[in-house]
Amino acid sequence: MDSKVTVAVRCRPLMPREERAGAEAVVVLTDRQVSVGDPVELAARGSSPILGRNFAFDLVLGGDSQAEVHETLGVPLLRHAWRGLNASIFAYGQTGSGKTYSMTGGDGDERGIIPRVCEGLWDAADAHSATHETTVEASYMEVYNERVRDLLVPTGRPLKVREHPTKGACVPELTVVRVRGRNELAELLSVGSDARATAATRGNARSSRSHAVVSLVVSRRRRSGSSEGITEEGWWSGLDAPGSCTSTIRLVDLAGSERVAVTGTDGARLQEAKAINKSLAALCDVVSALAANSRKKKAFVPYRNSALTWLLKDSLGGNAHAAMLATVSPSDRHFEETVATLKYAFRARRVKCRATVNLVEDLPEEVLPSPPSPAVVVRRSSPRRSPQQPKQVRWPRLTNLNPDPAFAGAAWAPIRDGATVLGCTAEADCVVRGSGVAPRHAVVCCSSAQGVVVLCALPGAETHVDGNRVAMDEREATRLEHGSRVVLARRLAFRYEARQDESLDAFDATDAWHAAIAEVSQKGSGAFADEFRGLSQLDDEEASQPARAASPDPPEYTTARAPDPVPRVVVGGGPSPRKSAPRPLTPPRSEALGDADLDDLAAAQAQLDAILGAPPAYVASRQ
Ligand code: ADP
Ligand code: MG
Repeated sequence: MDSKVTVAVRCRPLMPREERAGAEAVVVLTDRQVSVGDPVELAARGSSPILGRNFAFDLVLGGDSQAEVHETLGVPLLRHAWRGLNASIFAYGQTGSGKTYSMTGGDGDERGIIPRVCEGLWDAADAHSATHETTVEASYMEVYNERVRDLLVPTGRPLKVREHPTKGACVPELTVVRVRGRNELAELLSVGSDARATAATRGNARSSRSHAVVSLVVSRRRRSGSSEGITEEGWWSGLDAPGSCTSTIRLVDLAGSERVAVTGTDGARLQEAKAINKSLAALCDVVSALAANSRKKKAFVPYRNSALTWLLKDSLGGNAHAAMLATVSPSDRHFEETVATLKYAFRARRVKCRATVNLVEDLPEEVLPSPPSPAVVVRRSSPRRSPQQPKQVRWPRLTNLNPDPAFAGAAWAPIRDGATVLGCTAEADCVVRGSGVAPRHAVVCCSSAQGVVVLCALPGAETHVDGNRVAMDEREATRLEHGSRVVLARRLAFRYEARQDESLDAFDATDAWHAAIAEVSQKGSGAFADEFRGLSQLDDEEASQPARAASPDPPEYTTARAPDPVPRVVVGGGPSPRKSAPRPLTPPRSEALGDADLDDLAAAQAQLDAILGAPPAYVASRQ
């Protein structure tokens, strides 16, 4: 659906310090107009500011409270997101005009748009919890001097921006946290804001020179069979929202738009000034080109001229409802900057966006490690502690591979000693959601003392390791080696990681997904293989959709038969996949385990026997 960019102008009051310095207010706001008086003309002719330059806008915010600003911009954004549309807000204006105050704000009633949007999301998630499951994933980055930095795990190391063949620009190493509650989201954002503020003190007012981007991916899935209505009233009232959908929310606090004087500055400042001017000039060029295109011209849109515009391409002119909040100072000392901001915002009014609903079929398959092991833990034990927290990780583990870089490598399931059951219901040790995944799909048995990990497929469930089907009928287990690819139900892929390995970075997880699916296709045979080959030829978008004929009922189980006391182990080895294309396929080789291995596996095997000996719980409940 086409819509114009919403442009709102907010003018802050004169600060006490400005008043003390004799500054005068030259900005006058009326219902839908902003007028700025030229101080030189005013001094010469004594005319009223209303006779100065006038700009008409849809939304003009003067003495409005933070709550009112949220009602004007934050609530429409939430309503778009709840309907499955991507939505974004950009704050633009000179340093000191109120961008951060409007977006982040302070405590209590001073809370800005970002915390209020987060609260609004949780209000809706709670009110709909009987009928929908809502998940929120958050990331927070800063673009400073054309470099991207993570604000949730602020190592200070610049992160690479990569071009994904279908998804566009992405930052594969950026920390993405699956948020588990209202307080955790607020805490995460305060960690990010602290990190930005800390850098600002160290780095000479850096915060005014960096762009800060909060991204929230909100997914809601209708619970099957739910019929309970929503009773509470809220910002979602009267919305005709689809049952299951996903949306990306972007909240952007841009660097100060004032011209930075470059004369007499040292090398670092000069570099910084150039970078800010470059990215804001690039943003200006992009907005101009988009505005021209909205008038049917076919202008080239230079997204790739800066990291900022490249990263935010989709939110600027693509599949997103965009709003710009232009903040201005009323002071006569800022006349030129205020006029420049208003001219810029006026141009943005012409830009059109085309947002489409992201139904849940577009969601990549998701993997939820069972609580209480979140994929990434970023936590602050006390509000004043250092925000820098390492990722909490464990090995051995199964790391999620995914065609979508936003998900690839972002979640993993720890493998404990004994048996770890993978399946689609909450009873599994590792919950794997996706079409075709059985409630109890596969078991991973681990003996950390011997460093042996094997995988057994459970009856009726399709599982592949390095492209080879793990067949229950032959009562085989397959040994997992560091880097082995495990594919459940044909499309849910993991990499087994026995230990920390820097070379298996997050971006690899996208390539590795393609490699894992392709090798299943190439090694299979007959109709089964044909189906795989078809699948691997699909582009990312299609491949990430659940199978069309997915039945709401779990698949039928055959009666479980206990396997031999000790599984025969087929080594599924071979080198782990590296950065580039799928590795050449090698046939599996068989290898007998030593006695010590077998002894140690016996304990794990006993647990496996217990699992396989009893029919799966849900079969019992259906009889
Ligand atoms: P920016 O992020 O644009 O550089 P800030 O948001 O940091 O500017 O605002 C600069 C100062 O002005 C802060 O002290 C802030 O509290 C104050 N301020 C900004 N907007 C308002 C407003 N609408 N009402 C009251 N104070 C404001
Ligand atoms: Mg600021």
